[in-house]
Amino acid sequence: MALMIQTPPPATPLRRLATGLGALLVLAPLLSPPAAAQGLGQQLARSSAGLTGPRSQLPKDWQGLRPVAPDTVILVMPGHADSQGFGGGASGAAVALSGARPMDPAMSDELYWNLLTVEAVVRLGQARGLTIRSYDPLVRRIANGNDPRTTWSVGKAHVLAGGYALEIHYDAHGSAGVGSGLIPPISQTPSQIDESLAEEFGAFPRWFREGLGAPKRGIAILEIGKLEGPLEASLRNQATRQATLDAVAERVVRALERGLKRTGELEPSQPTIQPSIAMPPLSQPPDVVGSVPAGSNPQASSGAE
Ligand SMILES: [Zn+2]
Repeated sequence: MALMIQTPPPATPLRRLATGLGALLVLAPLLSPPAAAQGLGQQLARSSAGLTGPRSQLPKDWQGLRPVAPDTVILVMPGHADSQGFGGGASGAAVALSGARPMDPAMSDELYWNLLTVEAVVRLGQARGLTIRSYDPLVRRIANGNDPRTTWSVGKAHVLAGGYALEIHYDAHGSAGVGSGLIPPISQTPSQIDESLAEEFGAFPRWFREGLGAPKRGIAILEIGKLEGPLEASLRNQATRQATLDAVAERVVRALERGLKRTGELEPSQPTIQPSIAMPPLSQPPDVVGSVPAGSNPQASSGAE
């Protein structure tokens, strides 16, 4: 964690507490060394909910009541990973408004942060004992959304096999964006995982934009926040980047644990349930999994911006 700030605390540090990550980084030297070393990521997550900016104010017209098994296999995927060149994600305010260079000229800034966020979520989730993994097509431009390599196709197959699939997104800046929140699956009844993520990040209507490509295939979309303001600045600043990603990951993983009812209260005596879902290894080309019925719309966007 890049917490190397030596600045003494300002005269009124408490006033800055509500501003999120910046204040917490300033406060870090005040913590006892063990707390600073071990608990800071979790403290950041608890206190930096405001860092991700406004939550969706759109109506939540659904409830995630369907229970899920505690050993449900979670698949996390970067939004727009295969749609670069086809409206492939938000550019972010820094690039669009401030003339900043894209983080990577080969992709939208949103995809850049989607990829790093997926990595942080999976690493933390695995460390916490979740059965969680990622999928990245690596091919950045696939014209047909129903191509078996796309996140849509692999996510759909995962859901049909009984797993939970989630695409990570960052929303557009300004009035084009809505804010943070979960768009639940349409082809499946929303689950308690969807409900838990919505409690943490906010919610979009189930039929947002008349149903997006991922939710129509049973894949939830999680908008972390609008790519602007303190959130984008904290991501772009190398001194706070990893702490920001870790704080976001902490909130995602905690919400997943709550949805799975794995909040640390599982009795040790409880028998371990082995995952019953056979999944191909990620290194294997995904052309062996997934089939999308004819009639699906290959022209739909790869998700929300
Ligand atoms: Zn997006």
